[in-house]
Amino acid sequence: MNAVRGRFAARTVRVKAPGKINVSLDVGPLREDGYHSVASVYLAVSLYEEVAATSTADGGITVSISPASTLDLDDVDIPLDERNLAYRAAAIMADVSEHSTGVHLEITKRVPVAGGMGGGSADAAATLVACDALWNSGLSRDELAHLAAELGADVPFSLLGGTAVGLGVGDDLSPALAKAQMDWVLVTADYGLSTPEVFRKLDRLRLGEGVAVQEPSAVDPKILQALRSGDADALSRVLVNDLQRASIELAPGLRDTLGLGESCGAIAGLVSGSGPTVALLTHSPAAAAGLAEDLAHHGLNALAVHGPVHGARIISDTLL
Ligand code: ATP
Repeated sequence: MNAVRGRFAARTVRVKAPGKINVSLDVGPLREDGYHSVASVYLAVSLYEEVAATSTADGGITVSISPASTLDLDDVDIPLDERNLAYRAAAIMADVSEHSTGVHLEITKRVPVAGGMGGGSADAAATLVACDALWNSGLSRDELAHLAAELGADVPFSLLGGTAVGLGVGDDLSPALAKAQMDWVLVTADYGLSTPEVFRKLDRLRLGEGVAVQEPSAVDPKILQALRSGDADALSRVLVNDLQRASIELAPGLRDTLGLGESCGAIAGLVSGSGPTVALLTHSPAAAAGLAEDLAHHGLNALAVHGPVHGARIISDTLL
């Protein structure tokens, strides 16, 4: 890029932000406002989105997306206009910043799109941090978290990272002191599932069963205990995702993926969020690497990751 136009000097701030898995996800009944209350334990994992925000002289917001080598974006349609969460994050930051400029956001995608790992939310969290630095907005982490919540339920968590309990619609977050590393294998799908559609499917399944569901108000303390002590066996006994059966109804192949993961040595597995990404728990980094290799031989797209990892963070800041 041409560095200087008149007195304008372009600068690029590069930020990485993690995708998440839901180690537990309890979903309440459909509320009158159309949302569902949840109680969930979020874990940030070492699969990162990267956003490079470059100031431009023209005042507008532009977005481009390039896939990392591990991700195939051929059949995926991601909007680049104001429907893109990163675009909206930049627009919100421009509104609250006194010295905003135009900005080009170049997103390097690693988190599968519509995969239940909050990839778009990670792009938004990374963009908030990048534009905050680019425009010297001087917002506190709390102020950024408020803006993040306006963008979507999963955005505050990608900003925060680590391990956290999410209540409300998932945006009422409390960090959990659970720093022991756990090793997982993520099996990504070459298709996406729409989060609203998965919730609707769960509502229909429950309606058909005629079972009254309680509003969730807390997470099982055994989950946090297992995460604190790094006890993968204990964690394997309490993994839960209420959305899983709805995701499996919509994508029956997920049942085979879970079965194959366990028969190849995973201690346990679950669909992450609304899916279709499957998260398989293992005992060690070596076990995760071995499992990912085995699953790749079965033709699956499998990645060994660990968590918790930090939230959205600047990795470089360059004057061009
Ligand atoms: P969640 O579980 O938070 O719903 P997800 O990981 O299942 O998220 P995303 O990849 O975040 O799904 O995106 C879901 C949809 O949002 C996509 O199908 C796409 O149309 C739209 N979208 C908007 N902005 C983005 C973005 N920056 N990256 C990916 N998708 C985006």
